[in-house]
Amino acid sequence: MPTAPTRPRGVAELRIDVVSIFPDYLAPLELSLVGKAAQSGLLDLTVHDLRSWATDRHRTVDDTPFGGGAGMVMRPDVWGAALADVLTPDATLVVPTPSGETFTQRVAEQLALEPALVFACGRYEGIDARVAEHHRAAGGTVRELSIGDYVLNGGEVASLVMIEAVARLLPGVIGNPESLVEESHGEAGLLEYPVYTKPPSWQGLDVPEVLLSGHHAKIARWRRNRAIERTIARRPDMIEALDPSMLDKADRALLTGHGWLPGEDGRFHQA
Ligand code: SAM
Repeated sequence: MPTAPTRPRGVAELRIDVVSIFPDYLAPLELSLVGKAAQSGLLDLTVHDLRSWATDRHRTVDDTPFGGGAGMVMRPDVWGAALADVLTPDATLVVPTPSGETFTQRVAEQLALEPALVFACGRYEGIDARVAEHHRAAGGTVRELSIGDYVLNGGEVASLVMIEAVARLLPGVIGNPESLVEESHGEAGLLEYPVYTKPPSWQGLDVPEVLLSGHHAKIARWRRNRAIERTIARRPDMIEALDPSMLDKADRALLTGHGWLPGEDGRFHQA
């Protein structure tokens, strides 16, 4: 029997269903903050075994590709039956795939605003393309998303990544919501500054003096400068994308000092 969601809906901030041929792969969702969010009812999380919807004796979910070539493709009829049971009209279908749009913090923010998400974990050469096509044609929202430019064996790890990134944005999941504000890939468009804790001296390395000063304005400026410098060094593409209206005088001076100059569009480019 298909394991269709049976719990009462409506109290959770977000409903997430994951369909996979390896439901055990999703066990980490029971741990840490995501696990706690599920236990406390902030998140309504259900994992389904795709094979429950297979109809033959061997519970087959794949077949050879039309047009030939290596590998197997997941059958649309099995996925169709599963999604007919799991995917409610208000849910967004998320299909992890290396050929998808890149999953970023902005996408995580968009998904966190949805009432329900269904993750369809592919294996082999992926899911028959008609599954996404069919749900789009039926008026459903489908997001085909890649977690990066590399190929995994299946969509389970990609789903874990996306679910964790989305779940931590739900109100009440992170103890102190302020910790989300200055993070890498946040509104500022920068990487986070380096962070330190006790002891103040370790292995001959001292915590920067200013962080021990208690001078809030100086600490904020120091952190902002380090965030900009780290972003210049590691992700110049993010500096190019910075919204100039978010940069103050000191930011501009720092960027110029590192050889970044404002172009006609007001954005900073490497000189
Ligand atoms: N033949 C596919 C291609 O070249 O695009 C790759 C299939 S991959 C071996 C099997 C499954 O792993 C995919 O259907 C998808 O669910 C998942 N997957 C692999 N890499 C991924 C990535 N970078 N992002 C999201 N999902 C990925």
